[in-house]
Amino acid sequence: MIETIEKHRQDFDSRIHSSSEPLKQLRIEFLGKKGCIQALMKDLRQASPEEKRQLGKLINDFKQYVQNLLEEREQELKKPEHSSKSESFDTTLPGRREIAGTLHPITQVMNEITKIFMGLGFQVEEGPEIETDYYNFEALNIPENHPARDMQDTFYVEGGAVLRTHTSPVQIHVMENCEPPLRIIAPGKVYRCDSDISHTPMFHQIEGLMVDKNISFSHLKGIMSIFLQEVFGKETKVRFRPSFFPFTCPSAEVDIQCVICGGTGCRVCSQTGWIEILGCGMVDPAVLKCVNYDSEKWTGFAFGLGIERISMLKYGINDIRLFFENDLRFLKQFRSVC
Ligand SMILES: [Zn+2]
Repeated sequence: MIETIEKHRQDFDSRIHSSSEPLKQLRIEFLGKKGCIQALMKDLRQASPEEKRQLGKLINDFKQYVQNLLEEREQELKKPEHSSKSESFDTTLPGRREIAGTLHPITQVMNEITKIFMGLGFQVEEGPEIETDYYNFEALNIPENHPARDMQDTFYVEGGAVLRTHTSPVQIHVMENCEPPLRIIAPGKVYRCDSDISHTPMFHQIEGLMVDKNISFSHLKGIMSIFLQEVFGKETKVRFRPSFFPFTCPSAEVDIQCVICGGTGCRVCSQTGWIEILGCGMVDPAVLKCVNYDSEKWTGFAFGLGIERISMLKYGINDIRLFFENDLRFLKQFRSVC
């Protein structure tokens, strides 16, 4: 019986302060003629005289306890200030704000670049991150002895496959499956065995490819200039320098006027006033031959750029590793962008 009394007490305690429980109901359930205290008294008749004394006291104490608390609570609810108490609040307190998450700065820049190219009629394509030697190198006219195949640069996977070192293999997949004309971009992750202030083993690239009749270097120049001026501002000066890539010919490196010093020379641009931003060129006929495109009929250009590099220049970030340390103090700065 002691346990039963204790159980009733716990039940009463948990309900007495609940605003949804009417006090009248509690009074009936605990103190009423058919209430639990009356039931305990009834059970008490069967107890021995010794137990009766002990248990009777416990029941009476419990009854007193219930009565006192019910009265206290009734008085409390009657007080005029009580009704306004729950509604009054301090209007000068600062509000509680839910902190919303945000896209990673790299994703934001990637989306921005993708949007610019989509506006120029390019479609987004994706490809696998684990590639065969053929797609990552051979089909892109990268011969066996090219330094890009060096163990120091490339992550090799068991069985001879590689983690793609650039997004260029997507070009090959698309050209194998589609007939020209083509206008695609391929954003994604790429991997190289390199790590320092301006390199991470995983980074992001966007590859672009356009194949059509009569595509010339001037189309490439026009598209690259429009893109870079969209990202860095209409007044940004762009220059093309001759370069070499195995899968394009002729090839060029594209520079923009230094966004930090405006071309006067600083540490970021090594006092030259120019910053290298991407690589591009006309698709090499050897690559077109690999995918059975008639290079007499079709020509095209391709370009590739690093998202981290563009993001660093855009936001004035001097260490690429900051992007991947997941330090919220760094990431929160990009909340308002996008
Ligand atoms: Zn500079």
